[in-house]
Amino acid sequence: MADFEKAYKAVMEHEGNNHRQEQENTKILLCSDCFRDEGLKIEAYKIGIDNNDKCPKCKSVSGHKLTKGLVQDLCYRFFVRSTILKLDYGGAPLIQFNPQHFNKTDIDIPPWLADDVKLIEQAGEIGMFYYGPRFWMLGEVEPLKSLQNTDERNEIVEKILTAYPVRELTDKEYFYRLRVNPKVSHDFGEYDAAPDEHLGKNRFDDIGFPVLYGSPDLELCLHECRTTVEDNLFVAKLVPTQKLKVLDLSALLEEEGVKEFESVDIAIHFLFLAGEHSYDICRQIALKAKEKGLDGIIYPSYFSYVRTGAFPFETIYGRSIRRIPQLKDYAQSQSIPNLALFGRPVNENKVTVDCINKVVINRVGYDITFGPAYHKAYEDDTSIENHDDTTSDGQ
Ligand SMILES: [Zn+2]
Repeated sequence: MADFEKAYKAVMEHEGNNHRQEQENTKILLCSDCFRDEGLKIEAYKIGIDNNDKCPKCKSVSGHKLTKGLVQDLCYRFFVRSTILKLDYGGAPLIQFNPQHFNKTDIDIPPWLADDVKLIEQAGEIGMFYYGPRFWMLGEVEPLKSLQNTDERNEIVEKILTAYPVRELTDKEYFYRLRVNPKVSHDFGEYDAAPDEHLGKNRFDDIGFPVLYGSPDLELCLHECRTTVEDNLFVAKLVPTQKLKVLDLSALLEEEGVKEFESVDIAIHFLFLAGEHSYDICRQIALKAKEKGLDGIIYPSYFSYVRTGAFPFETIYGRSIRRIPQLKDYAQSQSIPNLALFGRPVNENKVTVDCINKVVINRVGYDITFGPAYHKAYEDDTSIENHDDTTSDGQ
């Protein structure tokens, strides 16, 4: 349990929620100027302490200073977060580190990183290694496999429909609908579900099955529509005119005594982090939900993690943070809900266009993190051997 507590605190610290470790350990060991790798230098500068003290290692006064805790944080950002390999469903970092591997780092690194890794290892008292992810992280989740199997899909979709909560949306729950280059920007019909010729291209809609997509998060709409500065953009604020019953797939499902590989919650979590190859499954869920008399679905956005900057497959000792009760709120805060309403709700008077605005993109910003470039690991699949035992783990 002591290890878990430590890991739990470490995870919270990685997200910048508290600086306990920093307070406990304020001794400066390195600075951003100590490193040779440009990405590592920039990452260290971003998280390091800004003061004019002389670095004990390289004597720089302008570099941002790092304590032991910050060195570990740097290692996490650069080597763990930035080496996540995303698969069709699920994903895991290629590299992990822990104190048990101190002085035993065995990852393949480019020559310009060799000295930097030694510095990190010594200051952080940690060692890096290739992570052997659990099978469930790579999509080996029973309900998810059943969803991909057309013979078993129906049964599991039924289960999803009964397991997840149904929410009622009222006129308090407005949302946005963005239109890129509309023909007539003030025509309310432009802000309804897409016309017939465009159906069957998105997550839930299909030929003969229109769906209106919206989000309470305007920036997310801009991401989802993959807008560019050249586009002529308009946004409508849409308000329900009656109570709408929607299935809430963005909820974190509590499943008593269920492991990750058998979890419906993990299956749904991975499903909405997956791209177009997952749409047939989503369409089946939508179709069944409509048959049950529901008006739509709330679902976690594919771009949640771009928007919140969170780490999509976060684990502690091989357990998903979604399965740890103390971290429920934290996990929930990482996903941003989107709304899909069946049919043509504007035309059917289920929602009304409250107002329309022009949207001008003045500036597009990127929030980037650097990671290591590899000779071997990125090309050679055999370097990630998955395993499912409980004796070794990444964190
Ligand atoms: Zn330095």
